[in-house]
Amino acid sequence: MCIFKGEGFNDYMNQLRFYIYIVLAIFSNACDDAKQNVTVVSPTPAPVVILVSPPFAGTIFLDPNIITKDDPTSFKSLIATGQGSRLMFDRRVNNWTTVNAFLFLVTFDDGLSTEVQVNPEFITSELAQVEAQKYAVEIGRLPKSLRKNVETVWIHKGVQPFGGENKNILIHIGQADLYVRDGILEETLVHEASHTSLDATHAASSGWVDAQRKDPTFISTYARDNPTREDLAETFLLYLAVTHRKDRISSALEKTVTATIPNRINYLNSQSWDLHPFK
Ligand SMILES: [Zn+2]
Repeated sequence: MCIFKGEGFNDYMNQLRFYIYIVLAIFSNACDDAKQNVTVVSPTPAPVVILVSPPFAGTIFLDPNIITKDDPTSFKSLIATGQGSRLMFDRRVNNWTTVNAFLFLVTFDDGLSTEVQVNPEFITSELAQVEAQKYAVEIGRLPKSLRKNVETVWIHKGVQPFGGENKNILIHIGQADLYVRDGILEETLVHEASHTSLDATHAASSGWVDAQRKDPTFISTYARDNPTREDLAETFLLYLAVTHRKDRISSALEKTVTATIPNRINYLNSQSWDLHPFK
């Protein structure tokens, strides 16, 4: 649409090219889809560039090195406390189920503790303990602020998504094996524990909502499509990455995150987290 003529039009086009260049330069390393992210609106008095599409589909698989199995864990001890009736959610039946779970009391070195409840399908306490110990050590790598509301952990067989609600982390070990293969078990646990420990306080807070409004777009389409449920969990992992793991991630990832969600990062930076043993 040509509504400008003469020099004014050329100035407009030059300004337009400049803005598009800046945005494409920021996102050129992010993904090929970045060029779809640019829309220009409001031609007068100056073009305003809006990023309409998030740069990623999801965030847990963007970098496997944000937390690894070689990072320190706050895991301190595990004690088998027998079997007991527990109500657990099982994604294989997509429902709540009451089982006679194998129970383990796990303590961390910073005063936190959690009860790991293992589905009796693992048959023996010894086999259940292997699983409980494995995931307790991994959960122990998470920052204390993410573990503080994790009162229980559920462990089932099956290849089903993890969960982070109900003051709990839900684990299906078939899915966990896939995450281990891809090096993102720890990153996924950060996402789930963000739900467990941060959503209630922060996901609807005025500061967070204000940051959502000010930022160009969401960091992922998963966050965009579930803005009240997934945005904080999708973001917190990358906040940890750009703030405390810059030496482990690519500069392209860092630039994309800081250009896409600067206000969310500022909001998270303004909180006083206890990141032990992560940092
Ligand atoms: Zn989630």
